[in-house]
Amino acid sequence: MTTLQEAPVSHLRENPFGIAQAQLRRVGDTFGIDDNLINVLSRCKKAVEVSIPTQMDDGSTKVFAGYRVTHNIARGPSKGGIRYHPDVTLDEVKALAMWMTWKCALANIPFGGAKGGVVVDPKSLSRRELERMTRRFTSEIINEIGPEKDIPAPDVGTDARVMAWIFDTYSMNKGHSVLGVVTGKPLAIGGSLGREEATARGALYVLRGAARKRELSLNGATVAIQGFGNVGSYLARFVAQDGATVVAMSDSGGGVHNPKGIDVEAAFAHKREHGTLGGLRDTEPISNDDLLLLECDVLAPCALEQVINESNADRIKTKIVVEGANGPVTPSADEILEQNGVLILPDVLANAGGVIVSYFEWVQGLQEYFWKEDEVNAKLNDIVTRAFNETWATYETRQTSMRIAAYGLAVQRVAEATVTRGIYP
Ligand code: GLU
Repeated sequence: MTTLQEAPVSHLRENPFGIAQAQLRRVGDTFGIDDNLINVLSRCKKAVEVSIPTQMDDGSTKVFAGYRVTHNIARGPSKGGIRYHPDVTLDEVKALAMWMTWKCALANIPFGGAKGGVVVDPKSLSRRELERMTRRFTSEIINEIGPEKDIPAPDVGTDARVMAWIFDTYSMNKGHSVLGVVTGKPLAIGGSLGREEATARGALYVLRGAARKRELSLNGATVAIQGFGNVGSYLARFVAQDGATVVAMSDSGGGVHNPKGIDVEAAFAHKREHGTLGGLRDTEPISNDDLLLLECDVLAPCALEQVINESNADRIKTKIVVEGANGPVTPSADEILEQNGVLILPDVLANAGGVIVSYFEWVQGLQEYFWKEDEVNAKLNDIVTRAFNETWATYETRQTSMRIAAYGLAVQRVAEATVTRGIYP
């Protein structure tokens, strides 16, 4: 029996690709970038849609829809994660691919932008089903990816285990191990030390930079974090290690709250044991929506897009928003937060740590020479701090938002590469 997966009601209120294109036009106007170039950059270079027939454990076959989109390769091979989520759409993947281009350019690493996605709830599949689906998806996009072409990585709903299956499927087809085809791999098969925590570590470095500028000490600051995946969980740990009070945390099932502070290590243990944060001792339940409205010094949306939007932006009571997720604040919410004096540390800066250490993993794989964790973290700090300082300087000189400053620097770099190379033929 074959069934086609139906998409449930989406978390996306606005078309994310429309948002990404509008942001690009605003950057073009602010920085006086040639309209012809903006037209080129507002489209994705390539989008591939595949169907992924997958045998279920009960013998039935389900067909999933999958996408891989390359936005731009002017500065190097395209780079970006693969997302497994029931709300994935082609336009979402296109927006995420465009943001990857800006993220890599802002970090000044030699990659363009890409993203992939499969319309699936990975939690609804068994381990074997997930493996079969991943391997079939990989073989459907095998001609699109490669170490000098397009390099996937983890994103929402995927992890090192999924990357291992992608690596193995690609390598089996080539007849030899190809370490550089995917990043975020397990350490046993060529992953990098520090990659697992890299996105959160990068966010911490950006937050430390911003706190210094705003004369706010992280020691004693109150922090609310939405999402307890790869980014949110480690960010909670890192800010707590810096002395911050984590007042709320959440996962897709809801949140937990304690104004006096949550024991983050106990939260890790609770999540490991029960699969959810709900019921964590010394906390009260709080919804994901209400968590965003808490009074706190730092709010870190680390889950999905558009959670801060027109409907709640004027009720956000924080000093700094650090975007651990991609696209968590809509443009209209951006304006409202700006008017209210909230500093937004944009995704392309705040969550760039992941792709930066992916770059290190790719380099280590190509050279078959692996670095110590301290070396990885120090190099990450160098790149993130430089990107933060450049963005802050642009933010001050241009009197614009941190987002427009960050996108502006990035778009100018991609535009320069495009002009220098010339439009083929
Ligand atoms: N998916 C992550 C992001 O949005 C990481 C991408 C990568 O490492 O290539 O930045």
